[in-house]
Amino acid sequence: MSEGMICRNPGGAPMRAMLGMADVLLASPDRRIICDRLAEGHRADPAGRCEHPVHADRPERHPCSLVRLVRLVDGLGRAVETS
Ligand SMILES: [Zn+2]
Repeated sequence: MSEGMICRNPGGAPMRAMLGMADVLLASPDRRIICDRLAEGHRADPAGRCEHPVHADRPERHPCSLVRLVRLVDGLGRAVETS
């Protein structure tokens, strides 16, 4: 797989921004609180899309990229803490 394939992320936040955010979250002692706040309001509407107003211009299926990022970071953080 070429680098272009890995970095392309159509419809979502740019991959570099996502990774930067994950990095900051993982390093923060308040990770759980921040993760909870970030995911707040990101729920599925009856059509299966995330109903958070942040997606008003560009609808995303639930779980949206932000919820997936938060879940990923939370999972990584737990793995680091228990090892
Ligand atoms: Zn969302």
